[in-house]
Amino acid sequence: MSDIYLVAGHPIGHSLSPLIHTMLFEYYNLDCRYEKIDIAPEEFEEKSKELFSVGVKGMNVTIPDKIAALESVDCVDPYALSVRAVNTVRFDGSRTYGYNTDGIGFIKALGKSGISVKGKNMLILGAGGAVNSVAKKSLMEGASKITILARDIQKAQALAERIGVEYGSLSDYEQYDYDILVNATPVGMHPNPGVSVVDTVKPDTFVYDLIYNPETTRLMEIARLSGAKAENGLWMLIYQAFESFRIWHGIEPDEIIAQKIYTKAGDTLNGE
Ligand code: NAP
Repeated sequence: MSDIYLVAGHPIGHSLSPLIHTMLFEYYNLDCRYEKIDIAPEEFEEKSKELFSVGVKGMNVTIPDKIAALESVDCVDPYALSVRAVNTVRFDGSRTYGYNTDGIGFIKALGKSGISVKGKNMLILGAGGAVNSVAKKSLMEGASKITILARDIQKAQALAERIGVEYGSLSDYEQYDYDILVNATPVGMHPNPGVSVVDTVKPDTFVYDLIYNPETTRLMEIARLSGAKAENGLWMLIYQAFESFRIWHGIEPDEIIAQKIYTKAGDTLNGE
């Protein structure tokens, strides 16, 4: 019987994870299946234990179950513990292990564009779960300065102080200097494209929009018109999935399958 892997969330409507992992299983000739499951946070612990007891080998966990996953696993990786969120669970037959692969996904996605955070001044817009992972990992990777800007300055302050970075109000955005600008708000995401969380971008900077649908966000358009470079969040999504795959199967996916998945995921998002 095939090994089963799942992505759990609530609601778990649309997810590219099954497409990514199924393509990896086929490419590496693994007898595995990957499915979606709707689990509310309050039932996560009980349901996940039940699923592991009937043979599920691993789970990706998405909103809003990442904290419930952190609280329900037997062992937590130090980085997942520090960002207080688990997005990958591995079951070795007796114990469950929790990890968070979002930060690695972000760093590798920037690397794909030839960008390193080392020594860079970063401005991150938003103060939600993704900011936590991105800011913490960027700090670990040597960013020289990180500032979190949010519309609710208290949220920015609470998050920034916990991570050990700077914070400010989104309304003061124009006053800030940066090498790398990261959008970690959902502003401009399908089904509400055409809007941007900021109206200007400094030239000679790099903009990473965590949004990947639409393919080119309004923020990316503004950035490119100003002479900045800009990328969407699709490579981050793919690389965080690759890190889960590596944790489960011990295989680092190669660039050939990476490119195939990027193209297929892009086509799927464009409805082709
Ligand atoms: P989240 O926890 O819900 O946080 C969203 C943040 O955006 C909050 O700080 C929220 O502020 C802020 N925000 C929402 N609407 C805003 C607006 N109109 N103006 C200014 N700020 C606004 O979400 P998340 O999990 O961090 O995800 C953030 C984005 O990243 C989403 O678009 C998500 O799809 C994307 N993402 C992509 C990847 C990837 O692999 N590419 C991974 C993770 C997330 P309040 O708290 O004040 O509401």
